[in-house]
Amino acid sequence: LDRYPLADDLGRRFGLPVKLDHHPRALLVGDRWFGAGRGVKQFAVVYTGEVLGGAFYFDGHLYRGTAGAGGELGHTFVQLDGELCRCGRRGCWDTIATLSWLRREAAAAGLPEPALIDSGRLADMAARQVAGAEKLLDRYACNVAVGIANLQQTVAPNIFILHGDVVLGGARLLDAIARHVRAMVPPRPGSTIEFIAGDAGDGAALLGAAGLVISELLQLPI
Ligand SMILES: [Zn+2]
Repeated sequence: LDRYPLADDLGRRFGLPVKLDHHPRALLVGDRWFGAGRGVKQFAVVYTGEVLGGAFYFDGHLYRGTAGAGGELGHTFVQLDGELCRCGRRGCWDTIATLSWLRREAAAAGLPEPALIDSGRLADMAARQVAGAEKLLDRYACNVAVGIANLQQTVAPNIFILHGDVVLGGARLLDAIARHVRAMVPPRPGSTIEFIAGDAGDGAALLGAAGLVISELLQLPI
């Protein structure tokens, strides 16, 4: 859909104004208005699954970056000369913390039905002590944690609301991610780093997208 005039096309089809924004920012507004982001001064949203992305709420404002280009977290670098990413560069966070990595590694570890694996299935296998599942879950948690640790180190949101596939992994996966992040970036004395499970489905994104449109049309601060 690169360069495709999606907003114009949808606008013509529905006869309504159309706004385009980054999916994690819709999640963020959903959290801000209806979820764990209510009343909080700053937090970050991280979405995982087929792709990785994020959004930031700083000092009472949604942060979009120049031309809305902020939040492309999947293509921040975690390993110089690492694996080739779908974006054409190497070593992006996307190459080690999305479902394509998980499925490939599940196949290599001999887990059943690797092509269908997601965080929910992996956590379930780990709970049933399927050989290799716990180890893979911990590696996946560590890979997700690397990018979050970089964010914490850079802008210290201290509250991370996670959405998408990773939520399916439940407390087992969330706790593992939190443990790895805290080991990589120990919280400053007197502060904590909080991890909150958001929505695995599309509910928060739809609510947030509606919130973004209303904010834009009414020119409300988000
Ligand atoms: Zn990339």
